[in-house]
Amino acid sequence: MRSARLWAGLLGVDKAVVERVEFDEDEGVVVVSVRPGRGQRRRCGVCRRRCAGYDQGEGRRRWRALDLGTIRAFVEADAPRVSCLVHGVVVAAVPWARHGAGHTLAFDQTVAWLATVCSKSAVTQLMRIAWRTVGAVVARVWADTAGRVDLLAGLRRIGIDEISYRKGHKYLLVVVDHDTGRLVWVGKGRDQAGLTAFFTLLGPRRCAQLTHISSDSARWMNEVIATHCPQAIRAADP
Ligand SMILES: [Zn+2]
Repeated sequence: MRSARLWAGLLGVDKAVVERVEFDEDEGVVVVSVRPGRGQRRRCGVCRRRCAGYDQGEGRRRWRALDLGTIRAFVEADAPRVSCLVHGVVVAAVPWARHGAGHTLAFDQTVAWLATVCSKSAVTQLMRIAWRTVGAVVARVWADTAGRVDLLAGLRRIGIDEISYRKGHKYLLVVVDHDTGRLVWVGKGRDQAGLTAFFTLLGPRRCAQLTHISSDSARWMNEVIATHCPQAIRAADP
C-alpha cells in the first residue's frame, strides 16, 4: 500500500509496518498505528538481542513523532515485554524509538540538533515540549553519540575562559574551538589542577598541534599553558 509507505516516510519511521491512520478530533492529533517490521519483533529493549516473549506489558503505547505541518502526531503500537537472558523482563525494543523514550528517533534527533543552534526555551516552544524534556532528549542522543565522536580531535586554535555561576561563588573552566565555535570541554573550578586535567586529556601530541590560545592572563593559567603548549601563540581575547 503506497499510502502506508508515505506515512512511514512522513513520520521518519523505519523498519515498521503502518497499520492505520486516525485523526483524534478530541485531542486534535494524528495517531498512526504501527507494528515493528519483520525481524524487529521480540527484541530486548536494552541490547536488542532476540529473545522469548513474556507478556503484553501495559498494552498500547504512544510515542510523540514530528509534527505534520501544524498538527501533532503520535506513533501508536503494542508494547509487549520480552524475557532477555541478560536483562530480564523488559519492554521489547521498537525500531522507531530509543528504549524508555516517549519520542521517536526522528523527534529526538530534531530536538538535539535544535539544542545546538538555539536556546533551550526556543526549542520548548517550537517543539511543544517541556524544558526538562529537552535535557532528557539531549542526554539520550548524546549517550548514543559520545562513543563515536572525539570532541578534542583537530584542535588548532582554542580559547580558555572561566565563567561564574551561583552568583560568583562557583566557577567553570571552559575551552572552545575558535575555528568551529564549538564548546569542547568544561571542568569545575578555576585552578591549575582543572586546566592541567584538560591538557592531560588532550595529550602531548595534540597539545603540540595547538597554534593559538586565547585566555586572560592570570598567572596560574599562564604557567599551565607554558608547560603544556610552549609553542602556542598567546592572545588576550579571541
Ligand atoms: Zn537484553
